[in-house]
Amino acid sequence: MTDAIRETAQSNAQDVVELAKRHLVQPWPTAGEVGAEARPLIRGGEGIYITDGAGKRLIDGPAGMWCVNAGHRREELASVMYEQAMLLSYNTPWYTMSEPSAVLAKRIADYAPGDLNHVFFTTGGSSAVESALRFMQFYNNVRGRPEKKLILSRGGAYHGSTYLSASLNGRPRDRDWMDGADDLVVKLSSPNPFRRPEGMSLAIFSNMLVAEFEETVSRIGADKIGAFIGEPIQASGGVIVPPDDYLPRIRKICRDNDILFIADEVVTAFGRLGHVFSSGEEFGLDPDIITFAKGVTSGYFPLGGMVVSERLLAELRRSNHPTAMYAHGLTYTSHPVGCAVALANLDLLEGGILAHAQAIAPYFQEQLRTLEELPLVGEVRGTGLMACVECVADRESKNPLELDTSVGMRIDAHCHELGLLVRPLINMCVMSPPLVITRDQIDDMVAILREGISRTMDDLRREGVW
Ligand code: PMP
Repeated sequence: MTDAIRETAQSNAQDVVELAKRHLVQPWPTAGEVGAEARPLIRGGEGIYITDGAGKRLIDGPAGMWCVNAGHRREELASVMYEQAMLLSYNTPWYTMSEPSAVLAKRIADYAPGDLNHVFFTTGGSSAVESALRFMQFYNNVRGRPEKKLILSRGGAYHGSTYLSASLNGRPRDRDWMDGADDLVVKLSSPNPFRRPEGMSLAIFSNMLVAEFEETVSRIGADKIGAFIGEPIQASGGVIVPPDDYLPRIRKICRDNDILFIADEVVTAFGRLGHVFSSGEEFGLDPDIITFAKGVTSGYFPLGGMVVSERLLAELRRSNHPTAMYAHGLTYTSHPVGCAVALANLDLLEGGILAHAQAIAPYFQEQLRTLEELPLVGEVRGTGLMACVECVADRESKNPLELDTSVGMRIDAHCHELGLLVRPLINMCVMSPPLVITRDQIDDMVAILREGISRTMDDLRREGVW
């Protein structure tokens, strides 16, 4: 520990809060709070637990941001970062390369479906998505079809916070106050079965989504559309699990129309659904590009990337264009420390965490679904080790609560007191704990969440707003 960190760790939590309020800009602040806001202080972590500023131990319900897959305080990961930094802390990807990046690319390629066998490394998910989209633009420019650039995205999507990746976002309120490259993006419906028209079967709902996709392609023209990008399961949109046949059907339309199919697996890769990649193993898909981040290092280092199809690269090479350049790269592309820790993380996943995640997931889903007994809960959904509890005013009509914006936060506040960190999302609570969670810990997590929701129901009744 550096002296500065040791000093802070010994300082009064309230002092840290004051420092943050005076000097820190938090992500996603409201205008009224920007640069003046503190958030709950977290000082340590171990396994599925974190410790807050008051020394209270909490279950890390969202695993950070769906990322601390191997759990906190893993000696195997920390020591590899130290060793790699002592060996080679940085190399410039412009002129040189390091061993961990090449070895990691090979291991990732081995897991990726189809002919996806080359990896470009980035600093996280947004830069991975940005890289994939800029690659699509470059690919079509080199192939002499510069007008084939539009990107199909969907309501409920979250793809990042850089300009182009953020332009794809489709969750309510993401874009209300932020500009975007709207001329490059076409939005389709979210494949959210919970919000499908009343009385409609899942099969018809899927047909409706596919028809919308086909109609959009024929209206705009395939010659104008470069890519479709989608999370196999929309994560930050509320863990939206689409109808089974929907993604394979969309994939086929994309192939038939020479539209690149980009699977954004920033959340669903590296064990969240029990596989290294979910596109192939879970959904039977062979995307043209997969983007990943988060769980690749279990959140220990900011790393992401895209795995790209050999076919696309071969086409570019064949063009042998004398001046065309994919003018895209980041100072930290292929960072040796990030790649080294990702390799150690893959060892952990292969060494038992993937198998554990697969084995424990049904229990996790089953236990969380018992919360559907609570009248405030409209639906509990999810798969693997990702789930969402959606609250509604009325279960019959599924009407949202008027207090939508604060219900998740209210539940989170109660759960914090009770020993669980929740990820509140408007009227929803997302649960995606470290993959090493045990049955007993799942029981604790669900019991606290039940009590947190019950207390929130009491508050709402007392206030006469529900
Ligand atoms: N894609 C998806 C599916 C994500 O969930 C996220 C982050 N939540 C991103 C991209 C952006 O990743 P990052 O925050 O690492 O830039």
